Amino acid sequence: MFKGTSASAGIGIGKVAIVEDVQLVIKRETVSNPQAELERFKAALMQSIKETGALAADLATRVGEKEAEILNGHLMLLSDPMLTGEIENAITNEGVNSEYAIEQTCNTYADMFASMGDELMQQRATDMRDIKTRMQKVLMGVESVDIASLPAGTIIVAKDLTPSMTAGINPQSVTGIVTELGGRTSHSAILARALEIPAVVAVADFLSHVKNGDEVVLDGSDGSIYVNPDPAVMGEYEAKRDSFLKEKKELEQYIGKSTVTKDGVHVELVANIGKPEDVDKVLQYDGEGVGLFRTEFLFMDRNAMPTEDEQFEAYKKVAVAMNGKPVIIRTLDIGGDKEIPYMGLEKDENPFLGYRAVRFCLDRKEDVYKPQLRALLRASAFGNIKIMVPLVTCIDELRQVKAIIKELKEELDSCHVPYNKDIQVGIMVETAAASLIADIFAKEADFFSIGTNDLTQYTMSVDRGNDKVSYLYSPLNPAVLRSIKRIISCGREAGIMVGMCGEAASDPLMIPLLLAFGLNEFSMSASAILKSRKLITSYSTEELQAVADKAMSFATEKEVAQFMKEFVEQ
Ligand code: PEP
Ligand code: MG
Repeated sequence: MFKGTSASAGIGIGKVAIVEDVQLVIKRETVSNPQAELERFKAALMQSIKETGALAADLATRVGEKEAEILNGHLMLLSDPMLTGEIENAITNEGVNSEYAIEQTCNTYADMFASMGDELMQQRATDMRDIKTRMQKVLMGVESVDIASLPAGTIIVAKDLTPSMTAGINPQSVTGIVTELGGRTSHSAILARALEIPAVVAVADFLSHVKNGDEVVLDGSDGSIYVNPDPAVMGEYEAKRDSFLKEKKELEQYIGKSTVTKDGVHVELVANIGKPEDVDKVLQYDGEGVGLFRTEFLFMDRNAMPTEDEQFEAYKKVAVAMNGKPVIIRTLDIGGDKEIPYMGLEKDENPFLGYRAVRFCLDRKEDVYKPQLRALLRASAFGNIKIMVPLVTCIDELRQVKAIIKELKEELDSCHVPYNKDIQVGIMVETAAASLIADIFAKEADFFSIGTNDLTQYTMSVDRGNDKVSYLYSPLNPAVLRSIKRIISCGREAGIMVGMCGEAASDPLMIPLLLAFGLNEFSMSASAILKSRKLITSYSTEELQAVADKAMSFATEKEVAQFMKEFVEQ
């Protein structure tokens, strides 16, 4: 048996597909024999067509015709004489290598499609990039798995998954994820929870113990994994999977109930999303709003920034779908573990302490921040949108953002473009600095949302994705608890709403403490909402005061965790 960190609950049973993220480096080279190079390209093209056809047929039988359509579209592109003709011309006329000719030609088309703006054209651009990489991989002899078209019943095994790779996973076919690196709050783990795919991360040296096709069972709740288990273990896990699904079904009784404690305190139970389509799950699980829309996911998996209009459409879609319920949209938070190649970010020596989030945006006002803020303002005419600024450490940052918003509002006024004039602008409290001056921030921010994923990282000085130091990474550390308690009381004293959108908001050991501290809003992955509603409605905040006082009196995380476990299980 292998053991890792539980990252997404549920039982996964299936066959291993090892996934690697290969970054191709394409160089321009001059070839001595263009005719021979042309033949090389044609052979690679035939091979790509063959592979794509096989993938499409496999997907059509295993998943469905609709899913296979994308790959059939790829086949059409690969067989388009205009496209292949242009690549061939570049090889013969310019005497360049096939990889480079493909890169240039496909990028030109992809950029052209991307600039047209609408969703269909965006998809074309993505398709063009996909076929580009497929042909280049054949030419370069790089084998890799197409993550979006894995067969049903696949357990993905990888060293690490980038957020954009995870976002490309098809939850219909992937039944589990195992990675050697990462932590519970690394973004790929957060996405696995959003997709409701059982996942275990930080499994040391796992790749050297499995090969493609091995049978694996994993428990995403306790982090255990078996490779090629015997029938008894398999039977045990099949039963566990059934009972997990049964419990999930039972939670449906909490749909439509309000989130009120036994002593009548109402809190908001809202969801974290990364893409407009995620609102379907929010509505399915009866979320009372969106507490965090991580907009950086709109910027991933593409070659160029989404335009202001594309962003506007995405934000509007969420606002409209949520039909007047609050939708907190966080402005771009890249850097850290979220890289976006085309943004021109250099490799930071310390990415989590570097050029990230609002720091980056305030440095790229004209081309990045203003289009996003303008899109947000325009979308605010269609629902209850609030703007949230990530990673603030000093009040000047919030003031600068508000000044830009003011300027943009004036611009919109002069063009008679509608927007919500009273739109709220709040902050994520997720740095030690913001926590220490929460009283100052509370005077100028319209709301707080505590980002415990980063707050724990920055308070404990512990990389949230580094398994070697993960024993320090817990919001139950007295230092983090004091910080959270203080942030909530500063916000409450100033009369502003205080929410939490870090993973601690759905942690059963944290929920009683957060209720006792007076947290107003809990934001989490949609799949955690009903379980949290069940918990919250079982407590009385008055009765929890003594529990919180006792928890705050301990000196170590271990004691707090032990005490809270006993309290929750009693
Ligand atoms: C957080 O830091 O707690 C948070 C919600 O933001 P992210 O996980 O995207 O950094
Ligand atoms: Mg954060």
